[in-house]
Amino acid sequence: MPAHMLQEISSSYTTTTTITAPPSGGLQNRGEKLEKTIDDLGEEIRPEMKEDIHDPTYQDEEGPPPKLEYVWRNIILMGLLHLGALYGITLVPTCKFYTWIWAYMYYVVSALGITAGAHRLWSHRTYKARLPLRLFLIIANTMAFQNDVYEWARDHRAHHKFSETHADPHNSRRGFFFSHVGWLLVRKHPAVKEKGGLLDMSDLKAEKLVMFQRRYYKPALLLMCFVLPTLVPWYCWGETFPHSLFVATLLRYAVVLNATWLVNSAAHLYGYRPYDKNISSRENILVSLGAVGEGFHNYHHSFPQDYSASEYRWSLNFTTFFIDCMAAIGLAYDRKTMSKAAILARIKRTGDGSYKSG
Ligand SMILES: [Zn+2]
Ligand SMILES: [Zn+2]
Repeated sequence: MPAHMLQEISSSYTTTTTITAPPSGGLQNRGEKLEKTIDDLGEEIRPEMKEDIHDPTYQDEEGPPPKLEYVWRNIILMGLLHLGALYGITLVPTCKFYTWIWAYMYYVVSALGITAGAHRLWSHRTYKARLPLRLFLIIANTMAFQNDVYEWARDHRAHHKFSETHADPHNSRRGFFFSHVGWLLVRKHPAVKEKGGLLDMSDLKAEKLVMFQRRYYKPALLLMCFVLPTLVPWYCWGETFPHSLFVATLLRYAVVLNATWLVNSAAHLYGYRPYDKNISSRENILVSLGAVGEGFHNYHHSFPQDYSASEYRWSLNFTTFFIDCMAAIGLAYDRKTMSKAAILARIKRTGDGSYKSG
């Protein structure tokens, strides 16, 4: 890299308030050294969290492909849910207007419980949230029923740290179907249990709200994911019971599940890799639309510490818009973002050449 570019990068390096160490003297060294320094500094914007940083030293051992042990209870329940959701599609045109609004709001709020809650707050610690927001997010998360926050975050940290190995719960090397839903229908690979069990989860164990949700998860999810969304349209505006159950509950739940799963399947298989061509995750606009901002997945795996999970803020990213609104009213703070210089350095070092500036 020419000297004037190094100068540009070092001078345009914008720190956030969370960065404690100033750029080191390595700036005068060769380009490689500078890029490494900037990336290292980038990681320090969130010094308390290291469990979601990719560990390339962990690789699968040679051996036969893993044996599939089916979990029939999950297969039957997932099958019934999707049949119910398909029937729900046929009922959509005859729903009452308020039922459409209700189902859509329930979709958006439960999706936020995953993206802004389980994902960006609790798995990655990319921002901090005050109690009222954490209360909202834990309720929204329970509405989404994707396992409790503690389990979701443990699986997700393992997904980042041991990406594309057998210790990654939805290892995309095992194909679209496995990374989409198949991983929930079979017993976990022993490596998931072994490596996942070693992850540091002390931050979540210390958070009373997360542990409270875990303790009362079964009755809470029955109420928030199934009973409440069915009863409200039925009681409050006289919707028929089948419309309430099949549209507002089963169809809405299946849509949120599949939108989230597409991040693990489609966004690990289809799209460009402008930030790091050595990892499988990709930038996928369609996934971003459905998963309210989680489709910038090559960026997200390259910089899991960024609260926007994207280089950009509000473009196709309702979750970031939501977190920024919460910050505006003082309920979210300490949002971590990468500096432009760190991003450009990473693009130059490991990108696939598809990056378009501006
Ligand atoms: Zn993530
Ligand atoms: Zn991923």
